[in-house]
Amino acid sequence: MKLRIAIQKSGRLHEDSIKLLKECGIDINNGVNKLKTEATNFPLEVFFLRDDDIPQYVEDGVADIGIVGENVVLEKSRPPIRTVEKLGFGKCRLAMAVPRSMEYNSIKDLDGQRIATSYPGILGDFLAKMGITAEIHEISGSVEIAPGIGLADAICDLVSSGSTLFMNGLKEVETVLRSEAILVANDKLTAEQQQLLAKLIFRIQAVKKAKN
Ligand code: ATP
Ligand code: ZN
Repeated sequence: MKLRIAIQKSGRLHEDSIKLLKECGIDINNGVNKLKTEATNFPLEVFFLRDDDIPQYVEDGVADIGIVGENVVLEKSRPPIRTVEKLGFGKCRLAMAVPRSMEYNSIKDLDGQRIATSYPGILGDFLAKMGITAEIHEISGSVEIAPGIGLADAICDLVSSGSTLFMNGLKEVETVLRSEAILVANDKLTAEQQQLLAKLIFRIQAVKKAKN
């Protein structure tokens, strides 16, 4: 029996996910445009998927474990599936930003405003917790241009350096969530799969320790 892991096919988490497996001593044939591959020296099958689909595949048991941003897990899988390990890469934050010209004093300034985001679930929870009523406009990409084209008054989007916000005339005003890549697992693994997962986690922890 093998353990099936889902990782991002291409994008910000792809290379670090492969690198982590390598550092764990797991060799995989990483062919381009492949949907899946197998490790040569560990009973591991690797599926390459869009990051947004990974929580669902793990929840459904199509994959046993997955590497994905915490932000995606919290948005796509509610209540979230089991996190087994934080991985220390893919660090970013989900932040609120407003036009630089807007006078912003506190979160209250967002009351009654239109906020564009790809994370309506996480944003909705955050606003409710803060006691703010706003109109959430869900858009799937290029969220940062929404204020400039009059679609929204503010945005809630992923940020790492902040340069994209700056280039679009925006300023960051609130942190909604801090995120990094995490290892998630289906909660119905066989005993054998759980043993394989424990072995993998042990190696991941050793890799992390060596880096500190
Ligand atoms: P896919 O094609 O798999 O759907 P995507 O475009 O949705 O890819 P990426 O932009 O590759 O996703 O981001 C993947 C993850 O990387 C994010 O969900 C987040 O956890 C993390 N990340 C780290 N830094 C950033 C950043 N500056 N902007 C966006 N995501 C970031
Ligand atoms: Zn995606």
